[in-house]
Amino acid sequence: QADTALYRAKSSGRNTFHFYRPSMQLLADQHLAMEKSLHTSLQNNELYLHYQPQVNQDFQIIGAEALLRWQHPDQGFVPPDQFIPLAEETGLILPIGRWVLEQACFQLSRWEKEGLCPENFRLAVNISARQFEHGNFIDSLNEVIQQTGANPDLLELELTESLLISSLESTIEKMEAIRAMGIALSIDDFGTGYSSLKYLKKMPISQLKIDKSFIADLLTDTNDKAITETIIAMANHMKLQTIAEGVEDADVMEQLIKLGCYHFQGYYFSRPVSVENYTELLKVQKLPLAR
Ligand code: C2E
Ligand code: MG
Ligand code: MG
Ligand code: MG
Repeated sequence: QADTALYRAKSSGRNTFHFYRPSMQLLADQHLAMEKSLHTSLQNNELYLHYQPQVNQDFQIIGAEALLRWQHPDQGFVPPDQFIPLAEETGLILPIGRWVLEQACFQLSRWEKEGLCPENFRLAVNISARQFEHGNFIDSLNEVIQQTGANPDLLELELTESLLISSLESTIEKMEAIRAMGIALSIDDFGTGYSSLKYLKKMPISQLKIDKSFIADLLTDTNDKAITETIIAMANHMKLQTIAEGVEDADVMEQLIKLGCYHFQGYYFSRPVSVENYTELLKVQKLPLAR
């Protein structure tokens, strides 16, 4: 009942009379307040990126994932899982996503100029479905590459399975245009969405990123192990790379190596860190073995 009321209130616009229970009203107010402050977050410099290292089995850095952070003036740190869906819903993900791409590419070009990028280095940027599907996306990507001087061969876009189900033809066309620029494509949170294997086969992607929900209990949950094993085997057959996210300890890393996955990201190696700290890691190239 309550959910229905909230839904109706949302879809009928702001100037309508609502039969909220007080708690629902509060939720809606918070939602609106959050939306309002998200609007100004960019110009108020409240957004920034953190970088989480990706490593190989020798703990050498092979890349990073850029992760968006929001330091709200009153509420403090707001996790992306809370504000990204809101940004998607409101369309704010378009300017915000563009800003993320600019920041990441700018940083990438600096790292390359400073000679800090190891061979085969890649910086991964998350792209939401709404951003990818926008008619301007390819132009915008080109502009950012031009403006920042980033080397597209060192850039990777993380896409989610949700866009794989909407209009296959145009998705593949866009992916091919991106690949033609030299940019790599990775499917994020793989295994949690609805992608059809038939479609996957047709897509010019280079990597599957195994979702952390399968990695967390890899050693104890036989289903998670079976799923992970299957994803890795399939990727190998399709000549796709795999990377596991959410690797939190040595045993999980070891198990992944046994299953044939040699690229990792997770707290075991490093949390997402500031640009300064990540730059320091790049200078050493190899991670001091994690905590
Ligand atoms: P994601 O793209 O799947 O990113 C991985 C998430 O897992 C990050 O959460 C990261 O901090 C977290 N993580 C990394 N290693 C571990 C680990 O060992 N254990 C656990 N429990 N978690 C780990 P974060 O930074 O909170 O981001 C959450 C999600 O928000 C991201 O999931 C992504 O979907 C979205 N997001 C973040 N930045 C952006 C962005 O710039 N654009 C878009 N469109 N989405 C973004
Ligand atoms: Mg990601
Ligand atoms: Mg992920
Ligand atoms: Mg995720």
